[in-house]
Amino acid sequence: NTPLHELDPDVAAAVDAELVRQQSTLEMIASENFAPVAVMEAQGSVLTNKYAEGYPGRRYYGGCEHVDVVEHIAIDRIKALFGAEAANVQPHSGAQANAAAMFALLKPGDTIMGLNLAHGGHLTHGMKINFSGKLYNVVPYHVGEDGQVDMAEVERLAKESKPQLIVAGWSAYPRQLDFAAFRRIADEVGAYLMVDMAHFAGLVAAGLHPNPVPHAHVVTTTTHKTLGGPRGGVILSTQELAKKINSAVFPGQQGGPLEHVIAAKAVSFKVAASPEFKERQERTLAGAKIIAERLVQDDVKAVGVDVLSGGTDVHLVLVDLRNSELDGQQAEDRLHEIGITVNRNAIPNDPRPPMVTSGLRIGTPALATRGFQAEDFTEVADIIAEALKPSYDGEALAARVSALAAKHPLYPTLSR
Ligand code: PLP
Repeated sequence: NTPLHELDPDVAAAVDAELVRQQSTLEMIASENFAPVAVMEAQGSVLTNKYAEGYPGRRYYGGCEHVDVVEHIAIDRIKALFGAEAANVQPHSGAQANAAAMFALLKPGDTIMGLNLAHGGHLTHGMKINFSGKLYNVVPYHVGEDGQVDMAEVERLAKESKPQLIVAGWSAYPRQLDFAAFRRIADEVGAYLMVDMAHFAGLVAAGLHPNPVPHAHVVTTTTHKTLGGPRGGVILSTQELAKKINSAVFPGQQGGPLEHVIAAKAVSFKVAASPEFKERQERTLAGAKIIAERLVQDDVKAVGVDVLSGGTDVHLVLVDLRNSELDGQQAEDRLHEIGITVNRNAIPNDPRPPMVTSGLRIGTPALATRGFQAEDFTEVADIIAEALKPSYDGEALAARVSALAAKHPLYPTLSR
C-alpha cells in the first residue's frame, strides 16, 4: 500500500512536473484534451488487475461479473451517443481501432483509399511504413487548391482503382467532409466506407458536426481528443458487421481488454451526453474561429503567415508558413518559449522536409475544457499573432500566457 511518492520518487517527480506543465502552460495540440478527474479515477482503479478476454457474458476468464457491467455500460452509452447499431469499446488506441476495422473488412493486398498524410490524413490511412501501407495497396487522395478534399479526384480514383475500402477522416484538416458523397462513391465501386472521426467525435457527440454513423459501414474513433476521455479507441458499426469487427479486435488483434480504460471511457461517454459538454464544444469551435480570423489579418499576412483553406469549421486551425521566415519547427519552438504548446505540421505541397515543415496545427479543445471563453481565445489569438512576428517580445507574451493560465486553474485538487 506504499504510495507512489514513497515507492518511486523518481517517477512521482516526473508526474508532478507534468501536472505543473499542464497547469502553467496553454495546451493547444489539437489532438489533446484534459480528462475529468472522475475519468482518471476510473482509469486508475482496481479494474487494471482484471483479465477479461472475450466480451460481456462470453469471457474466457472467471470473475468478470463486474467488468461485464462496466463494458455493457460503455457500449450502451456510446451507441446512444452516436446512434450506432453496434460498438466495440476494446481497442487500446485509435491506431488499433483502425487496424482491427481493416483486418475485419480486408485481406492483405486489397486496395484502400485514404487522405494523403501530407494533406491531413493519419498514418493508419495508408502511410508507406505503417501497417496500412504495408498490408494494403494504397491509393491516396488529396486536397485541392482551395485546401478542401477534392471529391472529383476521390470519385475518379475510386472508379480507376476499385478499392475494397475508402477511409474518410483526418488528423490535420480544418473543414467538414461530405460523408454522403463518400458513401455514394463507395457504393458505386462496391467499397466499404470507413469514417475515422477520431478528431471530431466530440463535435459530433454535441450535435455540432455532421454524424458519419448513418453513412458509413464502420466508424472508428479515439476517445481522448475532442471526446475528452481516456486514451483509447472505439469501433462503431452496423449490426451486420458487428461479429466480424468483434472477432477482428479479439482474438484478431488484441488479447485482454483494458477494463480500467473501458470504465474511464464509460464515464467520459456519460459526460459527453451532458449539456455542459455541448456548451464546451461550442466554445471549442468558437475559439478556433477566433484564432483563424486573427491569423488572416493584414499585420500577420505582412510577415507571411496565412491560414489553410482561409478558416475553420472544426476545432483546429492550420497555419501556413510557406511565405514566413519562420519554418514549422521555429514557430513551434517560439510558441513553446512563451508557454503555448502546439505541433508543427506538414501542409499540402510543403517545400520544407517533414521534420521541419511549413505549418502549425493549433487546436482549442483543451483550453475550452479549461473554461476559456471567447474573450480568452481572442487574447490567445493575439498572443500567437504577435509571437509569429520578427518583432515579438517573448517576455511580455509569456506574462500574458501566464495570466491566462492563472485565470483558468486546471486540476486544482490534484496539486501537491
Ligand atoms: N485516427 C486519427 C484520425 C488520428 O488523428 C489519430 C491520432 O492522432 C489516430 C487515428 C490514432 O490514435 P492513437 O494515437 O490513439 O493510436
